[in-house]
Order: sequence, then C-alpha cells, then structure tokens
Amino acid sequence: MNRPNWKDYSLQTQAIRAGHNRTAEDEHSIPIFATSSYVFGSAREAAERFTGKQPGNIYSRFTNPTVNAFQERLALLEQGERCLAFASGMAAIMAVGMGLLKAGDHVVSSRSVFGNTVLLFQNYFAKFGVEVSFVDLVDVRQWRQAIRPNTRFLFLETPSNPLIEIADIQALADVAHERDCLLIVDNVFCTPALQKPLNLGADIVIHSATKYLDGHGRCVGGAVIASEELIEQAIYPFLRTGGAAMSPFNAWVFLSGLETLSIRMQAHCSSAMQLALWLEQQPAVSEVHYPGLQSHAQHQLAMRQQSAFGGVVSFDLAGGKEQAWKLIDATRMLSITANLGDVKSTITHPATTTHGRLTPEAREAAGIGDGLVRISVGLEDIEDIKNDLLPGLQS
Ligand SMILES: *Cc1c(COP(=O)(O)O)cnc(C)c1O
Repeated sequence: MNRPNWKDYSLQTQAIRAGHNRTAEDEHSIPIFATSSYVFGSAREAAERFTGKQPGNIYSRFTNPTVNAFQERLALLEQGERCLAFASGMAAIMAVGMGLLKAGDHVVSSRSVFGNTVLLFQNYFAKFGVEVSFVDLVDVRQWRQAIRPNTRFLFLETPSNPLIEIADIQALADVAHERDCLLIVDNVFCTPALQKPLNLGADIVIHSATKYLDGHGRCVGGAVIASEELIEQAIYPFLRTGGAAMSPFNAWVFLSGLETLSIRMQAHCSSAMQLALWLEQQPAVSEVHYPGLQSHAQHQLAMRQQSAFGGVVSFDLAGGKEQAWKLIDATRMLSITANLGDVKSTITHPATTTHGRLTPEAREAAGIGDGLVRISVGLEDIEDIKNDLLPGLQS
C-alpha cells in the first residue's frame, strides 16, 4: 500500500494521522518505544550508524520512534521542514540559544515574553557574553533601532502574555532579514491551528507542548521547528550533546493531544470570544484585552495574521489588587493556577504571580496593572464559567 504524502492533506488530518510508521505488528495506535538504545546487526553497521553513513537509531537521547512521530507530525502542522522535540519549552529555547549564539553576539527580544525566557537571556546567556536588548513588542521602529551589527536573532511571542498584544510577524521578519538576522517566534498561544509563523517569514518556531499541544495539562515538553539546514547545523548537534530530550511517554501523550488540537482550539476561541464580550458588559471591569474585540489595538492585524483569536482573555478591574484577589477567591470551579492551554479554565493575577518578580516600575511599563486578571478559557460550558465569575464581579 502506498503511504499518503501528508503534505497534501489538511492540518486536521495531518494532526490525526501523520508521523506513524506502522511496525510489523500492524498496530493502529502509535506505540511507546520504551527503549534507551538500539541494536546493530554487526560491528560494521554500528560504525556506519555512528558516522551517519547509515541512517537509523542509536540512542534515545537523540532519536526515538515515538518522539520522531511527534516531530514529524508537528513539522507538518507548522509547515516547516524539520521539528526537534525537547524536554520542555524552556529546553527548546535554550537549545536555540546554545546552537546559534557565541560570545560577543547580541539578541533583540520582546519585553513581553515568558518570564523564564527573560531570565534565561538576562542571567545565563549574559554569563557567556551574549547581550540582550528588550523592546516593545508592537513597536516595529524600536525593533529596527535595537539591531546591531552583531545581532543574531529577534525573539518574540505573539499574542503576548498577559496583555494579548499582537506583533506583525511579516513586518518583523522583513526587519530581521534586512540586517541578516533570524526571526524566532514562540507560537504557544496560537499553535499552528491558528497561526503559522514560518509562512509569514519567521525562521524558527518554538513550542511549549505543555500548553495547547497537550491541551490537558498532563506533561511538560517543547519543540523547535525550522529549516533542515538550521536544525541539522545548529540545533540537532546541541540536542545530541546537551541532552534535554523529550521522553517517549510524553511524546505519546502529545501525539494524542495533537489529534484534537484543531477542534479544541476552535472551541477555546469561541468560548474566549463569548467571555470577552460578556466581561465588557460588567460594570466592575474597566478594560478587556482580547484581539477579537473591535476595541483591541491590533484587531485588524489579528484578523489578517490569525485564523481565530485564541483562548486567553485578560481584563482590568477598577478596584486594583484587592478586587482582583476577591474575584479569584470567589470562584469555586476555575483553577487558580498560572498554567494555560488546558481543557480546564484557569485564573491568575499576573502582578503577584507570573510577573511578581518585576519591580513595580517595570510592571507599570509593561502595562500589567494591579487590577489585571488573566483567564485561560477552558472547554467547560461557557455559562458555567460566567456563573463562576459572577459573584466576584458583583461583590
Ligand atoms: C510555558 C511557556 C514556555 C515554557 O515552556 P515550558 O514547557 O514550561 O518549559 C515558553 N513560552 C511560553 C509562551 C509559555 O507559555
């Protein structure tokens, strides 16, 4: 039987079927290859595998059939040439840095990136002589001005966390390429179901599979998607040596997560839109941050760049921290946790959790007020989610 060429299929079909190379056992579901190493037929074959003359598995730190299936599937979804899986989203970002940077290099990063990404750049890459400049995500001029002759890459997340601002990926890819830099996009909030940064000119896509790719809050994992050349020359050699590999069990969990990614994202987006519109009607709420709303500063850009607006909504309460905490504590169903991208709705107060380590001035500069609340809208009934929030909004 001919194997289909999955490139010719739609994302929803690829997410369910691509990546599985059925074994001689004729299994219908992808197996977990729980093996650390692989056996060679002869001393010559062993030698040829090690030199790369003969393709095949050697050791699960760098290749494993279950992990390969996840990589193949996610590469297709992002329409990239090659994907490498990692132990976590942070391990993926670290691998990109270790693979691409050397002492004396410079990076330009959005100020509004995941907290640990900032710490990785500021506290660790800095130790090895890499300088980082932070700029405003949506101000293209600032990006252009921050680039130096030694800048290697630009790094951003769009939509951003927790204010859900949108960067123009195409414009920033042009800015990067004019100056011989790479553009790296962390695509955690949208996933390839809503946005494909490589098609908009980005060079590398980062994932924390921990969020929507799993979708059920079960495992920690990450991935890098890029051209064959970038992966083979810069990222794979570091994975093989640095060792932050994804476990086969986690890859198996993520594979099943991907199978429902498309319909889950549609449902997350639909509920988030309904919640955003409802929150706009609440007297206690002074502003709602959701790119699906007409009032959002980058609504038009989001319509162009994304196929829907995502599952995360944040909003400001006029009553500041006291009212935000009161609202959070008045919920009975929502999970009070900083995680996102789960079928379970989560609620968090960024100023005292994810962004609590910033100085008050830095928080204000980033627009993260004391009354800001972020909800990752899950797949419970939307009326139950509203009802869970109502008492805290009315008190
Ligand atoms: C969670 C997250 C990360 C880090 O991923 P881990 O899997 O937790 O290491 C990176 N970027 C974004 C946008 C995230 O939400």
